Amino acid sequence: MQSLQTQLESTCRLIQNEIGIGKVANYIPALAQVPPDKFGAAIVTVTGETALVGAAQEAFSIQSISKVFALTEALNLHGINLWNRVGREPSGNAFNSIVQLEKEKGIPRNPFINAGALVVTDALLGNQSTEDCTGKLIASVQTLASDSSILINTTVAESERATAYRNAGLAHFMQSFGNLNRPVNDVLDVYCQQCAIAMSCEQLARSALYLANNGTDPLTGKQIVDEERARRINAMMMLCGHYDASGEFAHRVGIPGKSGVGGGIIAVVPNIAAVAVWSPCLNANGNSHAGTAALENLVRLTKWNVL
Ligand code: GLN
Repeated sequence: MQSLQTQLESTCRLIQNEIGIGKVANYIPALAQVPPDKFGAAIVTVTGETALVGAAQEAFSIQSISKVFALTEALNLHGINLWNRVGREPSGNAFNSIVQLEKEKGIPRNPFINAGALVVTDALLGNQSTEDCTGKLIASVQTLASDSSILINTTVAESERATAYRNAGLAHFMQSFGNLNRPVNDVLDVYCQQCAIAMSCEQLARSALYLANNGTDPLTGKQIVDEERARRINAMMMLCGHYDASGEFAHRVGIPGKSGVGGGIIAVVPNIAAVAVWSPCLNANGNSHAGTAALENLVRLTKWNVL
């Protein structure tokens, strides 16, 4: 039996030619500055074993991966009432699409498309100041990762905030249906900060470990969510974590995953490990091209698929 480190290394060796295929996201100007040839991967097991390859310790913009942490917090705050405001079905549309919102009366399909994530952010905000809300979110991510050095990249946050035309459109539209409680600007302020959290693959894999261990961080013993909620967050990642390519990801990789336009993906192997990969060039659906290929090969080698 090869060691975990050897397995990760041979997996990543297989996909070297995939790195650089696709396009770095440029609709958020600061993201366009990231070198296209970056690649990193990390595995952290529920017993605490770690394997790292490439730029696994370099921080990048987690973008929509943050939606998993925000959903976790919002469910802990509001329980099942959150589902009155956001659905649980795959959208079959792009992450920033507005087309379903009118027909479905301002209730987004799921918490991982942008419209759904904006509702989750609004739910997190409640009556707090935007600073308090952002502060709590970053503190909870630091706790999940057991790493207080994790920060928001303010350049990325400001760059997204200054160009958040699409998300502003989605938010105004939902507000017209009464599905936002706070002013659009407050929701966008927090959302753009949340997406600009900078983390490495190692930190991300560590922070997703509770989802691989029935809701409890196996290394600290702290319960983050109960078992049922962990199962449901994983189900959401499996069905909606890659937007209109979620079926494709399930087909190729077969474990719950969540991508971000920074080129990161977290993936959960129940009862075994959490994995994070990063490579900034994206496919047409906005998911990391080389990152997906790496996960596909890792699962093929380890047989970690749940499907
Ligand atoms: N911050 C990005 C946006 O709202 C997140 C999108 C993503 O990572 N898919 O467009």
